[in-house]
Amino acid sequence: MKNYTAEDQFLANKVILVTGATDGIGKQAALTYAEYGATVILSGRNTKKLEAVYDEIESLGYPQPALVPLNLQNSSPEQYSQVADVIAAEFGQLDGLLLNASDLGLLSPIEHFDEETWYRVMQVNVNATFLLTKYCLPLIRKANKGAIAMTSSGVGRQGRAYWGAYAVSKFATEGLMQTLADELEKSDIIVNSINPGGTRTKMRANAFPGEDPNTLPTPKDLMPAYLWLMDIENNRQTGQSIDARDFL
Ligand code: NAP
Repeated sequence: MKNYTAEDQFLANKVILVTGATDGIGKQAALTYAEYGATVILSGRNTKKLEAVYDEIESLGYPQPALVPLNLQNSSPEQYSQVADVIAAEFGQLDGLLLNASDLGLLSPIEHFDEETWYRVMQVNVNATFLLTKYCLPLIRKANKGAIAMTSSGVGRQGRAYWGAYAVSKFATEGLMQTLADELEKSDIIVNSINPGGTRTKMRANAFPGEDPNTLPTPKDLMPAYLWLMDIENNRQTGQSIDARDFL
C-alpha cells in the first residue's frame, strides 16, 4: 500500500472515536482525521491533555471535536454504556472507532510477573477494547458503513521473552479483531488490527530507554496507514493484521 494517498476531506461528516487521543500515535491520528474532515471524539484519562488536543484541533480550524474522558483502567461496563449513550444523543451514529490506548505494563519474565500489573494491562488493553467495541457497535451499525481498528504490536503476532502481559494482550486483541471481523463479514463494517511498528513515542522510549528516538518514524509518518483504516469508501479489507510500515 505504499502508493495509497487519501483524498482531501474524505472524512467530512464522519464521526470517529479515538482512544488514547492525548499522546503519541492516538493524538496524531485524531489531528489527522480532523484534518481530513472528521468530527473526532477524543477519549483519554487525562482531562488537561484531552483539552489541549481539543484546543489544537479548534485552533487549526478543523471540525469541532468532542471529549469523552474515560480511564480504561477502572471504568465499569455501565460507564462504557453511558459513553455510547452520550455519543448516540450527540451524533446519532459512529462511523469509525480507533482503539489505540494501551498500557505497556512492565517487561519481566512470566515466572516473576507482578499480578496486579498483569490484571491492569489486560483491563486496559483487552477488556476495555471489548467493552468499547460492544457498546459502540450498535452506533456503528447505524452509520452507512463503518470501520473498527484495534491496535496490535509485533509482539501480538510473535511472542517475545519478557514482554509478558503486553504481548499476551496484543494476541488477545488480534483474536478479538478476527472474531468480530468474521461475525461482521456480511456487513458494511470493516474490522482490522494495526501494528504501528517501533514509533517515536513515550511508550517506545519507556520500553527501549537506550534507543535513539531519532532513528524511529514519527506518529505523523504512520498516518497513511491510519487513514486507510478509516477509508471505508475504498477499503474493503477486513479481518486483516495490517502493518503501518507497509505504507511508509
Ligand atoms: P503513548 O504515546 O504512550 O500513548 C498511549 C495513549 O494511551 C496515551 O494517550 C495514554 O494516555 C493512553 N492510555 C494509557 N493508559 C490509559 C488508560 N488507563 N486509560 C485511558 N487512556 C490510557 O503510546 P503510543 O506509542 O502512541 O501507543 C499507541 C498504540 O500503539 C498502543 O496501542 C501501543 O501498544 C501501540 N504500539 C506502539 C508502538 C510504538 O513503538 N510506539 C509499537 C507497537 C504498538 P496518557 O496521555 O494519559 O498517558
